[in-house]
Amino acid sequence: MSKLIATSTIRGARSIVKETEVLLEKTIQQKGKDYEFEFPDTAFYLPMIYALTGFPVKTLSDMKVALGFAQELLHDDPDENLWLPYLGETLDSGMATLFAEEIFLALRYINGDEPYIDKETGYTYNGFITDTIQRNLGVQLVDGTMPGFAAIIGAAPSEDIAVSIVRELQEKNILIFLSGQSNGDSVTKQLLRKGVELGWDSRIVPLGPHTEHTLYALDWAIRASLIFGAKKPGDFKEHLKYQKDRVFAFAIVLGELDDLKWATGAGAINMGFPAICDTDVPVIHPTGVCTYEEVDKELDHSRIVQRAIEVRGLKITVEKPPIPVAYGPAFEGERIRKEQTFIEFGGQRTPAFELVTMKEMEEIEDNKVVIIGDNWLEEYEKGGKMPLGIVVEVAGRKMQKDFETIIERKIHQILNEAQGIWHMGQRDINWIRISASAKSAGITLEHLGIILNTMIHSKFKSIVDKVQTLIYINETDVLRERQEAQKIYRQRDIRLSTLTDESVDTFYSCLLCQSFAPSHVCVITPERLGLCGAYNWLDGKAAYEIDPTGGNQPIPKGSLLDAKYGRYSGVDEYLKKASGGAVETLNLYTIMENPMTSCGCFECIVAIIPEANGVMVVNRGSQGMTPIGMKFSTLAGSVGGGMQTPGFMGIGVNFITSKKFLYGDGGIKRIVWMPAALKERIKEDFIIRAKEEGIPDLLDRIADETICEESDPLLEFLTQKQHPALEMDPILT
Ligand code: SF4
Ligand code: ZN
Repeated sequence: MSKLIATSTIRGARSIVKETEVLLEKTIQQKGKDYEFEFPDTAFYLPMIYALTGFPVKTLSDMKVALGFAQELLHDDPDENLWLPYLGETLDSGMATLFAEEIFLALRYINGDEPYIDKETGYTYNGFITDTIQRNLGVQLVDGTMPGFAAIIGAAPSEDIAVSIVRELQEKNILIFLSGQSNGDSVTKQLLRKGVELGWDSRIVPLGPHTEHTLYALDWAIRASLIFGAKKPGDFKEHLKYQKDRVFAFAIVLGELDDLKWATGAGAINMGFPAICDTDVPVIHPTGVCTYEEVDKELDHSRIVQRAIEVRGLKITVEKPPIPVAYGPAFEGERIRKEQTFIEFGGQRTPAFELVTMKEMEEIEDNKVVIIGDNWLEEYEKGGKMPLGIVVEVAGRKMQKDFETIIERKIHQILNEAQGIWHMGQRDINWIRISASAKSAGITLEHLGIILNTMIHSKFKSIVDKVQTLIYINETDVLRERQEAQKIYRQRDIRLSTLTDESVDTFYSCLLCQSFAPSHVCVITPERLGLCGAYNWLDGKAAYEIDPTGGNQPIPKGSLLDAKYGRYSGVDEYLKKASGGAVETLNLYTIMENPMTSCGCFECIVAIIPEANGVMVVNRGSQGMTPIGMKFSTLAGSVGGGMQTPGFMGIGVNFITSKKFLYGDGGIKRIVWMPAALKERIKEDFIIRAKEEGIPDLLDRIADETICEESDPLLEFLTQKQHPALEMDPILT
């Protein structure tokens, strides 16, 4: 590494450590050394320090200890590489910088200065990124929809360049974090001036206006190895290796680099994240740590994204329909408000529906869009609202009736990813809007069909050989076709409700999360969906047809070894191999003995409350305390990583209302506590299940946070309500 950079890095590190020391002393004087702090919604204290040293920082005096680690790393003797002997002095300074920055930002939180609010514009930055967001995005990171993330630091030479860099990353589905500034300007401000939508929905997340705010992105990255990788806190080599191998991050540095940028960059390099700069910096070629350039330059802004992708080795395959607006997951969360709408369909305003149906090969003219209705273009040009029936016809040698619903469910995502098209709902309760700007870009009704045809081909290559889309726009046609569709929806519902674990001979595995949690396997059965909620048995079956060597594999059930607990010989055999020996045997229907493992992206956690002789179910996103004295975030921290943890289990929301939910432990009658929002979400199905169990008002006998958050009042409530769990066999035997 060049002498110049080394000097700059070491200087930057010393200065942030010093600055943090001063702020820490001042804060201790004001608040006292025992003052407690945690970042919002995380189970990992100060995550960088916790992951790399194993030291949980809980108080201001803990921060003093942790800052000591940073000071230790700032040694004078270049030969004396203390803590990361294999990294070298400059990188030691990088690590010291990250530790100091983390404490510095924590102190700013304590003083009410984070998340940062821009005084001029009133804009509030994101600040610290919560565990919940990490888990929400987990599946997208593992299944390749989100191939990586970019931290952009500084400001582009012009607003237009800022927009084009960000758009290019968005179209490649890369998550973008913004921080820092250059010459008093920043990419965040540049995008705000251009009216670009910022935030998690558009996947452009401004963290803060200073260089040290970049740490929030690194803090997010390091939690992947804690949450999904189950790497032990303190095992820094394992953490850094995991980051390098599995977290596809890079930085784009726009504008001149100062000492703190070099020092923070050195920290990022420790994690295997290269930086591509738009200034004439010395290129740092591969050393012991990385196999790629650690610092590189690309002075041409139209090439800088491509260069970054090449250096970090991201694999990106993006298929786009031929339409006059941008397309990609970054536009999936885009909202179109009433006043931005050119035309809308459905949503109780006009009759509408959508249906995917299977045909014979010869019945379909591939890629055709047929709009049924006279003068459709004139009708469309008027704007406002319009009836709409969408029928997608598919055929393929490997197509099956069962896959219709799977393709149909994708319509939502497929249409939403077009910029300026918004979709909600499904079946005959769908609702579509086309924005005025998409209209002026040239979007017509025909494009809805083009988007569906192209993307269904692309997403379902091996089961769909031909696809065409029919679009009905006359009210009488739509009403007539909708009635036909409703018959089909009903038949499908009947078919689904007869699909049971007993009625099939094959289950499916999902191994997608193994890229983050190597020993985790989701066993997906007709009555138990994957714990992230995104994959059910039919999805598994279709995914296997689509890609026989992919992440979903058939599991022949074998013989039933235990009907109550749901143990199958075929499942056990499969798991031994697929979990690399980590799981020997699995019971599908109990939480108490060899339950399913968890990766980290579960929608809910089930945990036993021994004193209530039952369980609670708490959903991701719930912020409050639970009767076992842990918040979701804390609880989640001890359940993930692909281990079996009797008494605790991650599940998908829909599993709660399955007949197989804790079947061996007594089923839904064991549930004694759930957050009110979760109760509300599953209400309809839950009441049906409760009736089947002979306790129609069971939901009302289950406590929530409005009733209690502790175990004593919980017991009182359950007794008063005569909750069935109190009468059941002891859950702990
Ligand atoms: Fe991960 Fe399981 Fe969801 Fe597959 S089903 S993505 S393994 S959580
Ligand atoms: Zn997962």
